[in-house]
Amino acid sequence: MNTHIHSQNQTGRPRVEKTEREWREQLTRDQYNVLRGKGTEPPFTGRFVHEKRSGTYRCAGCGAELFSSETKFDSGTGWPSFTEPADRANVELLEDRSWGMRRIEVNCAACGGHLGHVFPDGPGATGERYCINSCSLELNEH
Ligand code: FE
Repeated sequence: MNTHIHSQNQTGRPRVEKTEREWREQLTRDQYNVLRGKGTEPPFTGRFVHEKRSGTYRCAGCGAELFSSETKFDSGTGWPSFTEPADRANVELLEDRSWGMRRIEVNCAACGGHLGHVFPDGPGATGERYCINSCSLELNEH
């Protein structure tokens, strides 16, 4: 029943597009509120905040590979945090001026789903801290 319309995003990769109704059917309410509604889960409530298993974190909306457990660190913020994406082409960074702040929004490049924000105070070589909602992720253990 799913109708997938493919168009091009800035990475040149095929883009997953679904109707609002299809997203609502596929996603849980919490996943929908974050991925499609750009919501933020309350801190320390997400299932991956303290996750230590090794694996690949994929987009809960479309399955795109987003982050490796090897780059996950405990930021103390209450959200899963990573020093870099698995592949920079798999995330889109957009300026977000909502709530009176200037932040950089992180979206899935394949489906446009909202993942979280990136901040310039990370502990690794990139100096970046990807602050990501658990709701937007699925973990494939390996
Ligand atoms: Fe996605």
